[in-house]
Amino acid sequence: MKSPFHIMIIPTLGCPSKCHYCWSSDETSPKMSIETVREITEWLKDYRSDQVTITFHGGEPLLAGAEFYRQALPLISGELAHLKPTFALQSNLWLLTPELAQVLAEYRIPIGSSIDGPEEITDAQRGKGYFEKTMRGYEIARANGLEVRFICTFTNRSVEEKEAIFNFFLERGFPLKLHPALPSLRSEDPKEWALEPEEYGQLLVYLLDRYLENLGRIEVMNINDLCKCIFTRRGTVCTFVDCMGTTLAVGPDGSIYPCYRFIGMPEYVMGNVRDRPTQEDLAQSEAWKLMHAFKEYVDRECAGCSHIKYCRGGCPYNAIAPTDGEVRGVDPHCIAYKRIFDEITDRLNEEMYGSGDMEMGGFGFPPRKGAKPGIMSILRTMATK
Ligand code: SF4
Ligand code: SF4
Repeated sequence: MKSPFHIMIIPTLGCPSKCHYCWSSDETSPKMSIETVREITEWLKDYRSDQVTITFHGGEPLLAGAEFYRQALPLISGELAHLKPTFALQSNLWLLTPELAQVLAEYRIPIGSSIDGPEEITDAQRGKGYFEKTMRGYEIARANGLEVRFICTFTNRSVEEKEAIFNFFLERGFPLKLHPALPSLRSEDPKEWALEPEEYGQLLVYLLDRYLENLGRIEVMNINDLCKCIFTRRGTVCTFVDCMGTTLAVGPDGSIYPCYRFIGMPEYVMGNVRDRPTQEDLAQSEAWKLMHAFKEYVDRECAGCSHIKYCRGGCPYNAIAPTDGEVRGVDPHCIAYKRIFDEITDRLNEEMYGSGDMEMGGFGFPPRKGAKPGIMSILRTMATK
């Protein structure tokens, strides 16, 4: 099955927030002009013929302002009508005004935002006042009918507070999507905030247990995705598929990169939208070749791993950006992926073929009375949504 086509538009790398562990903002970054948006639509018209999802990402994409979206959204929707574009936005919401919210609501744009748990924990790692400003934007979004989901970044410090963080999401009724803090390539101490892979693996198992204890009261998106990967035997998020070519990002000046994570790193520019490159043209770039080399490396190095089909070596950015573009290993989070994939597989096998007090059976069978919820319950909950 072909992976969905995803274009990320990065209107600027600037951001008003100063999160301590952020590696992707740049105060000197220019802002994308509407002319560049027009170039993007001209390029995409003939690039691929399947449905496209367009995510506005940053930096902080709302820095582009209401007028940018008022022009860009109808332009893209109209010019690319044959690709049936759907939109998404990743923002800290500080700059969301009722005016901007109405523009986004017209296109029913789902928003991903970021909150790292209770106010003290969020502000300790994202800067004082972050929580309040984001929640203010959240209220404006909700008042205008916009759907907001939060990503929670766990650092090596906040992981100590995992219980308080989980309870925060549970009590507020927010779905939880976690993101492990990555080493910052722009910092003198890249690992200052980074979550170590072993800790990340333990955190995923902890969240699996808490999720099962509270099934029906919270959704832990990562656990859903991981269970789906194992059950369907294929990756269901970009980290666990060969993302090259199905995900691309366009920076403020129209440069094309493999993903938003590479924006601002000139060595990963694959072309520019104004030149209307075809897939074959982009495949000639060094960045594309590098991503392809990563795929071949995974085929070789992960050949003996039982999870290769739905892991695919993890995220190529995590693997190659810290080594200055040399393919020397798979995603360092491999340890965490193995840990949680093993855990879910073992539990699923136990539920389906073992005995004990876990529920058994497939989708067609109701859970056994008194049985503890297990992986099948998560799959069943997802199937009924
Ligand atoms: S480089 Fe990583 S984050 Fe970017 S699309 Fe690929 S897997 Fe996803
Ligand atoms: S879990 Fe590790 S070894 Fe297995 S496929 Fe993923 S990255 Fe490769």
